[in-house]
Amino acid sequence: MNPALFLDRDGIINRRRVDDYVKQWEEFEFLPDIFTLLPEAHAAGFVVVVVTNQRGIARGLMTEQNLADIHRQMQQELQKQTGHQVDAIYHCPHNRADGCDCRKPNPGMLLRAAADHNIALANSWLVGDSESDVQAGLAAGCRAVLVDPTNPTTIAESVTATLSAAWEYINTHTIGGQQQNAIPSKHQ
Ligand SMILES: [Mg+2]
Repeated sequence: MNPALFLDRDGIINRRRVDDYVKQWEEFEFLPDIFTLLPEAHAAGFVVVVVTNQRGIARGLMTEQNLADIHRQMQQELQKQTGHQVDAIYHCPHNRADGCDCRKPNPGMLLRAAADHNIALANSWLVGDSESDVQAGLAAGCRAVLVDPTNPTTIAESVTATLSAAWEYINTHTIGGQQQNAIPSKHQ
């Protein structure tokens, strides 16, 4: 079983477009922290999984193919810049009224990823910039960090201003089962 780092996309990996969606690659603007985090997360043993609500598909503002193209180019650019790609990408294409189990705050995407990738949810973390991300993470049994310092009432266990700061928090508050339990014998 592997620990996972679940990442929201818009506002975490790329700049969030206010009142709009990233509908084509030209509208996708990386935030810089992912380039540092991705190799470090893999080195620490995390499966890195993107979980993203893309309601623009249900609204007819973009297609599944548009989204697939964006994610293909995102992966290519990550590979080029870091030598790493995210391990899986799950998206919810539905609208709020569709009653799906995958639209965050529902945990469906995380549960599906756990089944597909042998993920130990209790040793996993979610990082997002919306309270609905945090809710999805906690509902799946993960720990969660919110990247939104303007929200003091979040149910996340930590609030940070950046993805890098969230990653630092995760690193200093146990990683997975193995490191948590790996106390050197001379310290026992
Ligand atoms: Mg977001």
